[in-house]
Amino acid sequence: MIQAGAHGAEPEGTIGALSIINVLETGKDIAGKPQPELREKLQRLRLIIIPIANPDGRARYPYDGWVGLPEEEMHRVGQGTRKDGSLYGWPGCKEVHPMRGDVGFLGCYFDDEGVNLAQDNWIDPMSRTTTAIMKVVSAEGPDMLLNLHGFHAPPAILQTDYAPVAVKEDILAFAQQYAKDLDSQDIPYNSWMPEVTEDGPRGECPPALGQTAMFYHAGAAMPMTHESPQGFNDVDVAFDYQTILALHHVLLETASDWLCNTKADNL
Ligand SMILES: [Zn+2]
Repeated sequence: MIQAGAHGAEPEGTIGALSIINVLETGKDIAGKPQPELREKLQRLRLIIIPIANPDGRARYPYDGWVGLPEEEMHRVGQGTRKDGSLYGWPGCKEVHPMRGDVGFLGCYFDDEGVNLAQDNWIDPMSRTTTAIMKVVSAEGPDMLLNLHGFHAPPAILQTDYAPVAVKEDILAFAQQYAKDLDSQDIPYNSWMPEVTEDGPRGECPPALGQTAMFYHAGAAMPMTHESPQGFNDVDVAFDYQTILALHHVLLETASDWLCNTKADNL
């Protein structure tokens, strides 16, 4: 299962998801390039794809993508501003939820009700989208769920908090394989891996119970957050659109191989 666009100012995952749909339907990716090998791999799977989980936020997003723009503009557009124009920034944008009241520009993180889908109230969801998506996850019980996001750095798989150690070990192994597969295409992976650690050892602030963690508890066997570079022009490693698209193809290829190797009985 793929969920993209939970944050409306992170179009990279949406483009990746739409490209995967294109490959399956036409044999060509969204840039028009034939992808016979990727298509063959994808056809081994049953895929559920949500290309834009937060269409409200996407509708407020004023660009087609971030390549060539400065990171601070993402803080304005993604996380939003107060009425005086000052930035909420990160993690300041998480201190007010739902994001209502002192809002100048409502950041594209949020839906029109001010809810950040990545951090809803899971017991009594503020967003009907949360309930709808969790119902799909619960009904389908996907073997893997890729939660596609974007940020300032080279691509990375984040660890899923509040999942069993065995799941965290699988996520680490998956990320290591993904890094190798990216390397074979000369695309850099991030400098760190999703390590297997305890959730909130004594004396440390426990991690937030985010959407990807909840996907595990709703029924996804191996949910992971993928952070794509967004292409800002003022970060250490700049990415262009071709590479951002290519790394999403690699991610799905790695995922397909992983699932077919570990779930061979289901084929
Ligand atoms: Zn995000």
